Amino acid sequence: MVYYAGVDLGATNLRVVVADGDGTIVGSCRTGTPRGPTGIDVTEAVLTSLREACTAAGIRPEQVEAAGIGSIGPFDLAEGAVIDPSNLPNTIDRIPLTGPIEKLIGSEDVYLHNDTAAGVIGERFYSDRNPDDMVYITISTGIGAGVAVDGKVLSGWDGNAGEAGHYVVDPRGRMTCGCGHDGHWEAYCSGSNIPDYARLLADDDPTITTELPLEDPDFAAPDIFELAGEDELADHVIEQLAHWNTIGVTNVVHAFAPIIVSFGGAVALENEALVVDPIRERVPEMVMTNMPQITTTDLGDDVVVRGALASAMTGGTGDRRRLRS
Ligand SMILES: [Zn+2]
Repeated sequence: MVYYAGVDLGATNLRVVVADGDGTIVGSCRTGTPRGPTGIDVTEAVLTSLREACTAAGIRPEQVEAAGIGSIGPFDLAEGAVIDPSNLPNTIDRIPLTGPIEKLIGSEDVYLHNDTAAGVIGERFYSDRNPDDMVYITISTGIGAGVAVDGKVLSGWDGNAGEAGHYVVDPRGRMTCGCGHDGHWEAYCSGSNIPDYARLLADDDPTITTELPLEDPDFAAPDIFELAGEDELADHVIEQLAHWNTIGVTNVVHAFAPIIVSFGGAVALENEALVVDPIRERVPEMVMTNMPQITTTDLGDDVVVRGALASAMTGGTGDRRRLRS
C-alpha cells in the first residue's frame, strides 16, 4: 500500500494528514504552530505532527512515499526553508522543512509551496474539470493568489509569483499596505485592513450615519458584514470593497486567463453573497478576454492541507493525469 502526506503550516495552526493511495485520509494531526523560540522548534513540531498522523494511520513514517507542504512564506526555495516569516516572532529566522521531512519519510519527493499555491493545487485536483488554467484567491487576514497556467503551478524563481494581494488597485494610494506600500488591493479588502478602511470612509463623509463601533479596538470586519442592509456606512464599505475586489480579480483574469477562479478565506467564504457575488456580477463588465467561472472552494479550512496532499499525489502539480497509483 502507498501512502501520502499533506502538511499545512500556518501562522496559527499546524495540520498534517496522511492518506492512502486513493487519497482517502487515514490519519491526521492538528496542533497550534509553536511561537519559537527558534525555527528549529517549528520544524520539530512539523516532524512530531507528521509522526503522530502516521501513528493514527497505523503506519511508519518511512511508508509515506511523498509529501506536500503548504506553508506561510517567504521561502528559500533552494534550501526548502521558510525564512523570516512575518507572522511569527522575530526569533524565528529560518524554518527548515523539505530536508527534515525527506529524512523522516526516506523519500526525496517532498514539495514545498506557499499556502495559496497549495490552494490552487487542491482546487485543481478536486475540481470535476481538473483544469490546466486556474486561480485560487484567498481573502482572509491577507489576500493572495495561487496560479496554475498551462498546467504548471507558478512559483517564480524566488517563490513569489502570484502576489496578487499587492496589486496596485488604487493609484491614489489612500491606504498603506502591511508591506509598506500604498494602494495595494490587500490594504483595502483583507480582513485585517477592512476596519481601517471603514474608518477612512467614515472620515471622508461626516454626514454618513453608522452604528459601527469605529473607535472600539475590537472593531473587526465581521461587524461590518453583520450590519449589511441596515447601516449606511456598512453598505458603503461593502460597496467599495466590491469595487476594489472587482479591479483585483479583473487584473488576475487578464494576467493569467484562468478557466476557473475559486475563492477561499474567511472573508470570502463567510460573506459569499456580499463579497463574491458582486465580483461575479461586475468582473464581466471589465474583462476584455474570456470570462472564467467564479466559484468558492468546497474544501473550507481544509483547502491548504488537502492541496498539499494533492501535491504529494501528483508530483507537485494537482494534475490528475500524474497520479502515481
Ligand atoms: Zn502590499
